[in-house]
Amino acid sequence: MKKYKFLLQAVSIFAFALLLFQNTITAQSRVDRILIGEATRITNDEFPNFTTTPKGARVYSVNRANSKTLDAIDKGLKDLFAVAAKHDYSQKTDYADYTIFIAKPDRLKDINNQYSPDIAVGAAQYAGSIYDKGGYIYAAGMVVAFKPCAFVIGEHTKNLERVSEVVRYEGEHLILYHNDPKLYNKTKDHSKGGGHPILQ
Ligand SMILES: [Zn+2]
Repeated sequence: MKKYKFLLQAVSIFAFALLLFQNTITAQSRVDRILIGEATRITNDEFPNFTTTPKGARVYSVNRANSKTLDAIDKGLKDLFAVAAKHDYSQKTDYADYTIFIAKPDRLKDINNQYSPDIAVGAAQYAGSIYDKGGYIYAAGMVVAFKPCAFVIGEHTKNLERVSEVVRYEGEHLILYHNDPKLYNKTKDHSKGGGHPILQ
């Protein structure tokens, strides 16, 4: 009888542990589902592939992201964290703080015929500006969420240094949002001029 009681206790502890574990998984995927929904709303793409970079950044992509792309993302974040440190910004300077979506580009070349895999996003505040292409604009990247930090970039098959650059540039908005709200507000909208890099 005593043995039976012990067994029952062990089972209930195990069940409780399992429940806790399941809750953690559900909580995480609930936030991710919201992020994915937002990225899909912006790009009209689906992101069935998930992986992490060698340094721990989280990546959702339309196609499986290759190792060179993942390294390029890490390089962009490394550059971002380096310039953040120069300004004594300490918030959101972990690779794991970032979720990057890689979307299907809506164009491959810019108006100068240069390789430029960009995504078309709703014009919003850019309506009527030089960026406006008729209700939408072409962007190299776009912030998806601030808490947690997430942004979307176009898929690159070459010129991967541009991936690093776009990651560093989109990351600037997020770093500023969390460390320097005043400068964030001043630089968040490019329709009135001002581009990247913001931080030198
Ligand atoms: Zn920007």
